This record gives sequence, C-alpha cells and structure tokens, in this order.
Amino acid sequence: MKQIIPEGYCLQCKGCCRFSRERSEWGVHLTLDEQQSLGIRDTVIPSPKDPVSGACFCVFLDTRQERCSVYYKRPFECRLYPFLINRRGETVFLALDTNCPYAHEHYETQAMRDFIASLVAECETPDFIQRLKNNPWLIQQYDGVLNIAPLPL
Ligand code: SF4
Repeated sequence: MKQIIPEGYCLQCKGCCRFSRERSEWGVHLTLDEQQSLGIRDTVIPSPKDPVSGACFCVFLDTRQERCSVYYKRPFECRLYPFLINRRGETVFLALDTNCPYAHEHYETQAMRDFIASLVAECETPDFIQRLKNNPWLIQQYDGVLNIAPLPL
C-alpha cells in the first residue's frame, strides 16, 4: 500500500500510536494474519496506560526513540492511516482523519487529491473488499472524520 506521509514527518508528530483509552475504536485492529505475525492473541493491539503520564501507548511504540518497533511489518491500519474504514449506518466509507496534521495541511493539494483517487481505486478491488469481509473488526465507527468514498460492501 502506497503512503503519502513522509516517514520523517510522522516521527516528529507525537499524535499517532497513542490513545486516550486502553481500548477504543482508534486502537489498532489486526487482521488474522497480522495477529499471527505479531504474536498478538486479540484482534486489537494492546495499548496499556502509562502510570506516570496517564496516556495509553501502543505496545510496539518505542517512546524513547519515537519509532515503531515493528515498522516494516506494521499492521494494515497503521499503513492506511490517516485514512480509516468508517461505518456510518449501513454504509462503509473510506474516510480521512483530518486531525492528522499532515492531512490537515495537505488536504487541498493536488498531490493529496491524486493520492486519494488511487487509494479509492485500490479500496474498491476485490482483494481489498475481501480483506474487510474476512476481518470485519477493521470497520469501526469513528467520530470527526471526513468520509471520502463509499466502499462496495
Ligand atoms: S504498530 Fe507501530 S505504527 Fe502501528 S500504532 Fe503501534 S507503534 Fe504505531
């Protein structure tokens, strides 16, 4: 899956990989294959609460070096972000989290528009749709995101 956000940009941002609760829709949900390859028994990566800061961090976030310790096999949801698979009623959308600083700053650019067009095409492929059907917990209901395109589910 192609990425639009440069890796260096993400490393400077302390928004991702942290969650307000140990379990929430924003936590990283795993496909069955990812559960096996990462050795996680649950469908969501644990994000235990740090007793000092009170924040919840993905167990794979190396907070000292501000890097993902499984970056090269990070889950589908991490590769997809700032895009998300969002349910609204009976419809499932490809959505964008404009709270991501990069998405917020670049949403109106031609580069982002071109990227979105190619991502929508990828999300409509039978392989992509089958992955969602096989792993329905990848579809969550997110508040405050921008729905971009309905998916054929
Ligand atoms: S797996 Fe890596 S990229 Fe995904 S939330 Fe955890 S630390 Fe972040």
